[in-house]
Amino acid sequence: MTNLGSRIEEQLPAEMVNLMQTAGGIAAEQGGSLYLVGGVVRDLLLEKANLDLDLVVEGNAIELAKRLAGTKPARLTTHPHFNTAKLEWEKWGVDFATARSESYARAGALPTVEPNSIEKDLFRRDFTINAMAVCLSPERYGELIDRYGGQDDLEDRLIRILHEKSFIDDATRIWRGLRYEQRLGFQLEEGTLRLLKRDIPMLDTISGDRIRYELECIFQEEEPEKVLSRAEELGVLVRLHPEMKGNGWLADRFQAARKQAAPGLPSFGLYLALLSYRLGEEESEQLISYLRLPGPAARVVRDSIALKSSLRTLSYPELKRSRVYHIIHGYAQSAITANSLAVGSPIARQHLEIFLHELRYVKPTLNGNDLIEMGFPPCPQIKEVLKLLHNARLDGRVNSKADEEELVKEWLGEEQL
Ligand code: ATP
Repeated sequence: MTNLGSRIEEQLPAEMVNLMQTAGGIAAEQGGSLYLVGGVVRDLLLEKANLDLDLVVEGNAIELAKRLAGTKPARLTTHPHFNTAKLEWEKWGVDFATARSESYARAGALPTVEPNSIEKDLFRRDFTINAMAVCLSPERYGELIDRYGGQDDLEDRLIRILHEKSFIDDATRIWRGLRYEQRLGFQLEEGTLRLLKRDIPMLDTISGDRIRYELECIFQEEEPEKVLSRAEELGVLVRLHPEMKGNGWLADRFQAARKQAAPGLPSFGLYLALLSYRLGEEESEQLISYLRLPGPAARVVRDSIALKSSLRTLSYPELKRSRVYHIIHGYAQSAITANSLAVGSPIARQHLEIFLHELRYVKPTLNGNDLIEMGFPPCPQIKEVLKLLHNARLDGRVNSKADEEELVKEWLGEEQL
């Protein structure tokens, strides 16, 4: 029997190991058993860093987390309805859940859950490699629980579901499967692949919110384009939108977006704007409502499609900088970045970049009060004058407060003529 006790100590920070050992002891005192489960167990076996600790107790997760919260200055959040808790302190966080089984009243519905054994809890999980646990109770500390062949599948580099109806119960697993396959460089196991293809239509049973969440997870990956390209190959991508494409063009743009955002990651909005870039206006609206995109992300998608229609104008080399400003001004920043990454014309790209790095910061120094003090009558036209002044700044006709004052005096002189 595999024991991961020493690997836990090697790979996880002492702070976490101590907490898990204390928690295992308290769970035992409360008459239950505690397990480390899911992705972190997979990553322990793969020797990959993962600090997302998910603990499952055969017993009562909230009681256990409350007892632990008494042992250190930590913040405790509980969800009595789900019988789960979260403990956070300093930079650490641990999730506690009560071992449970799930049953699905209908495809895609949220499951009905009831407390159960760790075996049943593991059986409700998505893939064998995510369905392993390590016992943390003192007398069985480190023992690997692998009822469904997860360790073998890790060795064979396979993504395998646990039962025939898995994708029907929860079609988000289709996206999850592609994500793990591409992240780990594994393959979907033959039977799993066949069932995945068969159950693609079940994606229609999933709410837009849940699909959006899957996309968010994909965009957190190192190379989301691999997942999207695989999704295209298998006919999954078109379920987002029938006109959606995930081919080489997209991969190049995603890579460029990452280069630009480094050391951070491109935002959800930017990735999504690139993914939806080749859709028309109406099609992008369909995507927005299907994914129930929140305001800011919807704006980025909308703006990026709208700005696309100005690219022809932006590709004229002799455009004045003030004109460039007024064409681009008002669009969401990620929409402008998406266009600059996507556009073919180098001149249009240059204009977009000049806007992003320079023009959007240009402002006249004088304000309305200054103009009045200089002799302009306080009237609505002052706004127009300020706009002219702004344009003069943008076009480099004035470069300092003194220049601006001189120009304003000229205008005042003309008024009096
Ligand atoms: P990641 O490395 O991407 O964070 P993870 O394995 O920790 O992966 P989470 O999404 O945090 O994934 O989920 C934690 C665990 O819960 C998974 O390992 C899996 O066992 C289970 N799980 C999550 N989503 C599902 C699902 N849709 N169906 C079945 N089991 C799931």
